[in-house]
Amino acid sequence: MMEQMIERAAQDLVNSKYAIALTGAGISTESGIPDFRGPSGVWTKDPEAERRAYRSYEIFMEDPRVWWMERLTSPSPLGDLESRSPNSGHYALAELEELGILKCIITQNVDGLHEKAGMHNILEYHGSVLKLRCTSCISRFRRDEFDLEKLLREDKLPPQCPRCGGIVKTDGVAFGEPIPNDVARQSLEEAWKCDLMLICGTSAVVFPFASLPRIARQRTVEQERKNNTGRYGVEAVPAVTIIEVNAEPTPLTEEGISDYLIQGKTGEILPRMVEHVKKFML
Ligand SMILES: [Zn+2]
Repeated sequence: MMEQMIERAAQDLVNSKYAIALTGAGISTESGIPDFRGPSGVWTKDPEAERRAYRSYEIFMEDPRVWWMERLTSPSPLGDLESRSPNSGHYALAELEELGILKCIITQNVDGLHEKAGMHNILEYHGSVLKLRCTSCISRFRRDEFDLEKLLREDKLPPQCPRCGGIVKTDGVAFGEPIPNDVARQSLEEAWKCDLMLICGTSAVVFPFASLPRIARQRTVEQERKNNTGRYGVEAVPAVTIIEVNAEPTPLTEEGISDYLIQGKTGEILPRMVEHVKKFML
């Protein structure tokens, strides 16, 4: 039963013209990165950290120097993300891109693991912990392009943008912080363009990210079809096939936004899907 579902998804992928993937925390928990709201999530275990996270952007806006000092002197609730490695789910998606099937990934994850897995076309919707971003011109920088420890020692925080002199913060999007214009616009364009959306490890409940599958679901194309009287007529049919790979049913399943759910671990299902895809491509 499960294998048939995986095979069906592989067939849909091979038939697609412009497939994209949406990913969330579920694909990274298998790399040992905790999620936020799961049973052993960062905030489930430490509600105080959640309250601080909600206040964080406000503090940044009030005083970026204080915000940066706090950042550099207290450990990240997600632990040391730079030492984490991609898992078989990340590699499977990178392989789908390599095969020319997957055109783009839009991820909510800030861990940079899709890039480490060799994926090229990635939209980091909520930014990346491995990067910094200018709040004025949206230029992004690798973290090591700034000597943050030195800026802290010499009391020269916040870092300044070498291009425009604007204030630089981490690229990770904080609560209440708008999604940077460039990724917000490009993600919308992808949701408008795709004919298949593979949703992996996310229940898509956090807006505005959650609007992407909903926008795709509303799109229709006109298709000539035989109706029940045997005549041909033009009908509006859904323009996008939406497939979910998630551990549990989600609002996307329940609201009928996804066409079907393959229930289980992304690290196990996605590699099997790629095997079927390769078989169909022969
Ligand atoms: Zn700038």
